[in-house]
Amino acid sequence: MVNTAAYQQLSSELQSKNVTLVAVSKIKPASDIKKLYDLGQRDFGENYVQELTEKQPQLPSDIRWHFIGHLQSNKVKYIAPFVHLIHGVDSLKLLKEINKQAARLNRIIPVLLQVYIAREESKFGLDANELEQILTSEETASFKNIRIEGLMGMASFTENTEAVKEEFRTLKGLADRWAPHITENIQLKTLSFGMSGDYALAIEEGSNMVRIGSLLFGARN
Ligand SMILES: *Cc1c(COP(=O)(O)O)cnc(C)c1O
Repeated sequence: MVNTAAYQQLSSELQSKNVTLVAVSKIKPASDIKKLYDLGQRDFGENYVQELTEKQPQLPSDIRWHFIGHLQSNKVKYIAPFVHLIHGVDSLKLLKEINKQAARLNRIIPVLLQVYIAREESKFGLDANELEQILTSEETASFKNIRIEGLMGMASFTENTEAVKEEFRTLKGLADRWAPHITENIQLKTLSFGMSGDYALAIEEGSNMVRIGSLLFGARN
């Protein structure tokens, strides 16, 4: 069930803090997305390519679709025509394919690089060295149809706030370190971290884009 009261409260709170709210609608029907759209929400996040390509044509064309799941190179072509921001880029190979598909469409696709920060679970993402390699590689510099706009991360799923805070700080530290590295296709401005359980902490630690699902759409089965 869509929690419209929670949405109203959250969206005004985040607006006052200049934090972008990405409403994560995976597994939820298009009708739920439309409910938040009618209240003014435009940024929605999806994790699965097939689900996203099924929902997108059923919904208004001014929705900004964020792809937040793990993207396989061979599926980039399906979302390339309309995706607004791809959050989880964690390899040069994937970046290259996004660039290729964007070039075919004569568009520039903004992306975030996913950094591995969680200690307790195995999650996708780059470590500090791999991040540096991608940001400084000549191959990356040659990609004319992508723009690296920031970093994305997921903290450990734990009640231990101190641990989560440390993980967020690692991400913020990397973002600060690379912020001055501005090139034709790199300018890190967006920091996508924080979900239903930890968004308040994430904002305290410097996030300016949170990805929130269950708080708005109810628990997923
Ligand atoms: C599902 C998901 C979210 C939202 O999680 P909630 O806990 O429901 O807010 C955020 N980010 C990613 C990458 C997700 O897969």
